[in-house]
Amino acid sequence: MRARLATTLGGAAGTMSRLAGRGDGSVIGGVIGLRVEPDLLSLLSVDRQIVLVTGTNGKTTTTRLITAALGALAQDVATNAFGANMEAGLAAALGKAPDAPLAVLEVDERYLPRVLKATKARVVTLLNLSRDQMDRAAEIWLVARRWREALAAAPDCWVVANADDPLITWAASSARNVIWVAGGQRWQEDSWCCAVCGSHLMRDELGWRCGECSFRRPATRWVLEGGSVIDSAGRISDLSLTLPGRANRSNAVMALAVAEVFGVDPAHALPRLREVTSVAGRYTRLERRGRQVRLLLAKNPAGWLEAFDVLEPAPGPVLLAVNAQGPDGKDTSWLWDVDYRVLRGRPVFVAGERRLDLAVRLEADMVAFDLVDGVDNAVDQVSGTSLDVIANYTAFQQIRVTLGRAE
Ligand SMILES: [Zn+2]
Repeated sequence: MRARLATTLGGAAGTMSRLAGRGDGSVIGGVIGLRVEPDLLSLLSVDRQIVLVTGTNGKTTTTRLITAALGALAQDVATNAFGANMEAGLAAALGKAPDAPLAVLEVDERYLPRVLKATKARVVTLLNLSRDQMDRAAEIWLVARRWREALAAAPDCWVVANADDPLITWAASSARNVIWVAGGQRWQEDSWCCAVCGSHLMRDELGWRCGECSFRRPATRWVLEGGSVIDSAGRISDLSLTLPGRANRSNAVMALAVAEVFGVDPAHALPRLREVTSVAGRYTRLERRGRQVRLLLAKNPAGWLEAFDVLEPAPGPVLLAVNAQGPDGKDTSWLWDVDYRVLRGRPVFVAGERRLDLAVRLEADMVAFDLVDGVDNAVDQVSGTSLDVIANYTAFQQIRVTLGRAE
């Protein structure tokens, strides 16, 4: 009853917020609901099976993929599809789908412990941990430690974890039930040291291991192998996703492993994953002034590395856009952590409020570029028919508004 009242009030606030043109209203409803009923999240979680998804990169996409896969079991799956991933956003997502028996929720890394406790999730999905735009590597060790404590206190929960990320492995290994996935790890700059003893980690074709203690990559039940997945039964299937890039293939294998916990076979889940064509405005091609523009969101060094992997082959042009507003992190020194040399040999345009910071960085990597005022300015200078755009958070939102907010 209290949950219903809080949800109703929250829902009304969400509607008002939408009518006032202030976003999609998904957070304000939850904020008001939580103020009325601080236990709203746990009340709304009762009698549902919940999947939580967290990690530095790929949360929104993986949440979308798992939701698609679990669509095989239920018409209505509650989810926070637009990335409102703190308590208010989660409460709003559950409140909006009161009859959904399943929920797939993206959770901010720092909120995982308290959300796990409140929701009593059946599955927690741990993707990767690396420095984010506004913090340095030290903080992710603290995050991993808190996850360890939270998972140790949730013995009924299943954890689906990327075994190729040593810090994820350390965090997940406190859990009673872990399904290890070989999801790959391209960005290794934040995992040179053993989380157990602090020694140097060694890597070879078999994975990673500590040179001093017994901490090593666990044996995996699911494997991403090029464009294919090897499932828990040893069967090999072509992923053939519509979403591009290695990072999304990794996200898809994580989603398949989660789906299996719910009894959804890869043969049933995979066709559903292939139907996902875009995620919150990313990856779709939009027509702009006679050219095809594709938007990629990348917020931190690991994300930029994965975005480069998705670009059209050279000499396909690319626009890089960087802001440094609150959600982006004010400090742009992370730009120096990215290796831009792969962009040599293609037209590069640079935009955004901090385009000069990026320009200095590109100069240092000897990547030729043109400064532009915005996406249309770049579109007008492209000689071919397409343009890829990589932007960080608020730069992405600005470009999306310019291009007309397609889903
Ligand atoms: Zn060690």
